[in-house]
Amino acid sequence: MSKQQPSAMPWYQTGNPVPRRDKTIAVIGAGIAGCTVAAALKKRGFQVTVIDRHERAGSGASGNPEGIVYPKLSPRDDLLPRVNLAAIQFASDYYQPFWDNGLGRQCGVLVVPENNKARNDFKLISQRYADQTEMVETITHEQLEELSGIPLQAESALYFPKLGWLPPQLICQKLLELNNIPLVQADIQRLEYNSQQSRWQLYDANQQILLENHSESVIIASAFDCKQFSQTSYLPLRKIRGQITQLPCTIESNKMKMVICGECYITPAENGFHGCGATYNKDLFTTELRDIDHQTNLAQIAATDAGLATVLGQPTSDSLSGRANFRCTTADYLPIAGAVPNVTAMLEDYAILRRDAKTPITTPGTYLPNLYVNCGMGSRGLSYAPLTAELLAAEIAGESAPLAQDLCHAMHPARFVIRDLKRNRV
Ligand SMILES: Cc1cc2nc3c(=O)[nH]c(=O)nc-3n(C[C@H](O)[C@H](O)[C@H](O)COP(=O)(O)OP(=O)(O)OC[C@H]3O[C@@H](n4cnc5c(N)ncnc54)[C@H](O)[C@@H]3O)c2cc1C
Repeated sequence: MSKQQPSAMPWYQTGNPVPRRDKTIAVIGAGIAGCTVAAALKKRGFQVTVIDRHERAGSGASGNPEGIVYPKLSPRDDLLPRVNLAAIQFASDYYQPFWDNGLGRQCGVLVVPENNKARNDFKLISQRYADQTEMVETITHEQLEELSGIPLQAESALYFPKLGWLPPQLICQKLLELNNIPLVQADIQRLEYNSQQSRWQLYDANQQILLENHSESVIIASAFDCKQFSQTSYLPLRKIRGQITQLPCTIESNKMKMVICGECYITPAENGFHGCGATYNKDLFTTELRDIDHQTNLAQIAATDAGLATVLGQPTSDSLSGRANFRCTTADYLPIAGAVPNVTAMLEDYAILRRDAKTPITTPGTYLPNLYVNCGMGSRGLSYAPLTAELLAAEIAGESAPLAQDLCHAMHPARFVIRDLKRNRV
């Protein structure tokens, strides 16, 4: 996809581009979404400043001590597993220098099936990806103990040798540090476009304009808090609490060689502890740790594999620690990366879709000037963020997209407007 190519979906193209005079970009949010996109733009010669309400990068959802680059393949050709495959392939190369420098471990990720449907799917996945064993391999029960280091009970599993775990908070901080990107601490309350100066004005909590003359373009990467800006409040995001548990390793569990995923994930021991997660709570908005959630994580370990639970023993409550924060999810489980539509204009321009969803659209979309969003990473921010960052940076720099066009459309911020018009919901 290049900007010049005609598209079967003109809503995706910007009908009203505002030329850039300089290359100043402000990124709101210093989580994995903000830091990866900041780094991708800095590498392309942009003058990038990241803003976060916290003093340190990686203080929101991206603040966990460990996160998994998590695969979610399918035997079917759906958009979600195709995006996931592209994302994990990109991510495993992206994180290589971090792994080589001792941040996290590229220890491989083993996925055991959660139920019979998953077991059948795994068979089909191994047939489908039979020629890509460097990415995914099927492991039989007989091979499992030698490979994983512990006596797992599963009949079979999928093994992703190029994946592993990373410390997301440190990765965020390193991305800014290594690319010399300044982080400004401020809570951005609202954005206003000054069309005379062709710049965005970012108002902080004291109603002061921040980074005046340094924000020709803005990328909103503030996870669920994208909803607080009038320009992105239309995004159908959900905030879902999750808690991870750190539990002490035992002599037997210390032999675990790789990340194991099923009902939950668990990392190999590091400094005497395993990281395990995570819970899902839709209507709970506290970051306080809850013992009940630690117990849920332990139960999920047992549900993942009885052999896994046996080697971990029965840790006492007071030996458990953890962290809780919030995922930002979308209904289609795909992230959101691209230009922010002018929703009012789109609803008017494409109103005909309400009457006939099949009407071909012939005019390009109306977008807010040089405003972009990168969010909706759900439970897979480590997998998705490097790819969506690259996608956005390529778009902003006027390069060809590093991904098939239908996958770009599937993650586009305007998809919700088009979808809702077609369903006559707006
Ligand atoms: C318990 C748990 C376990 C998880 N495990 C994994 C895992 O193993 N693997 C995986 O890939 N993913 C995992 N995830 C999901 C992953 O953490 C997220 O997908 C990812 O961190 C999202 O990154 P982000 O940059 O979009 O959001 P965040 O990391 O939340 O960053 C958003 C930033 O924006 C800032 N901000 C918000 N509003 C404003 C404002 N108005 N002004 C200034 N700053 C603002 C916030 O302070 C924050 O730092 C897990 C999530 C949870 C909660």
